[in-house]
Amino acid sequence: MAEQGLPDLQITDVKAICTAPDGIRLVVVKVETSEPGLYGLGCATFTQRPLAVVAAVDDYLRPFLMGRNPADIEDIYQTSYLSSYWRSGPVLNNALSGVDQALWDIKGKRAGMPVYQLLGGKCRDRVPLYAHASGRDFQELADQVRAYMAQGYRYVRCQAAVPGLSTYGAAGSQAGAWEPTPYCQMVPKMFAYLREQLGDEVELLHDVHERIPPIQAVGLAKELEPYKLFFLEDALAPEDNEYFRMIRAQCSTPIAMGELFVNQAEYVPLIRDRLIDFIRVHVSTIGGLSMARKLAAMCEFFGVRTAWHGPGDVSPVGHAANLQLDVAVWNFGIQEQHVFGANTQEVFPGCPEIRDGCMWPSDRPGLGVDVDEALAQRFPFPDDPLNGSWAPVRRIDGTVIRP
Ligand code: MG
Repeated sequence: MAEQGLPDLQITDVKAICTAPDGIRLVVVKVETSEPGLYGLGCATFTQRPLAVVAAVDDYLRPFLMGRNPADIEDIYQTSYLSSYWRSGPVLNNALSGVDQALWDIKGKRAGMPVYQLLGGKCRDRVPLYAHASGRDFQELADQVRAYMAQGYRYVRCQAAVPGLSTYGAAGSQAGAWEPTPYCQMVPKMFAYLREQLGDEVELLHDVHERIPPIQAVGLAKELEPYKLFFLEDALAPEDNEYFRMIRAQCSTPIAMGELFVNQAEYVPLIRDRLIDFIRVHVSTIGGLSMARKLAAMCEFFGVRTAWHGPGDVSPVGHAANLQLDVAVWNFGIQEQHVFGANTQEVFPGCPEIRDGCMWPSDRPGLGVDVDEALAQRFPFPDDPLNGSWAPVRRIDGTVIRP
């Protein structure tokens, strides 16, 4: 359907662009149109299975969408979603996200507005970020938190190594095995130390990364209650969603969940039953900006705040899409930060600006970020027979566990 007062447009190409400027495999989708120079970009980064996403884009979405009017974002999303008959997996959702975000980028460029204006305008002029601090011991960790506070950060994620174990998110952690019990004993001691050293001013966060048995997660959430965390992340795996009810019944530690969620069946019940406080999905893995704005609206009605997943394996295009939602969504909670390396910033001109512990929106039309395709090609995916697969994490007896 035509947009009023504007000439009809057609999609003339859809392609996946692969690049790894700082060693992380990124996939973005470029949607080109019949208007010379008008194109959009979207994040389709599923860094553990990037080549499967590329096939979904190039072999399936491209032929399906050629000739369509890029103005019809919702209809293109719904028809593409249904065109696989079986749907809602991470590969197909990331491919859809690449197209979906690119269509929002095109609509913003056509309107001469940043995408957040199309989403209702700004609720805030900057987006508070949380930084990642980690240490081999508590003192090194506290020093890092202080360094972030000195730079203007008010929210910091804290991870410390368990001596002798391969600990998620902790700098200097040894490679090797992992055991949940020593970790569960360490974390409350870590927060007691941090509160004693740092006081109550700074907001502290922690990521369990779904590594411990559910009943130990219930116990850990209870034990951490006195330290007033901003949130406790991924205390449980998606497979153990029902245990969130038990955590909720026993303590008021704020719960963040969702970076592994793919579809509505996983997140709707947790929001509806008020069992989590922050929704932390990887926006491209649930299907893109269209799905994320609906999810944010649903969360608003249940008092759940947003905390979109924002590590280095969300491309700068994805961070720019997160930023649009972060400024426009009233029930914004926090944004995870990643400071991209110099190579990535060169490949993606217009990478969101980070300053004073915040990400700052620009007034550039669309998502506000571009890609230098020739430069992107100079950073191919690293040579690795497993193409980015997550390495197994094992207990001392050899049992593989969730990562
Ligand atoms: Mg996480």
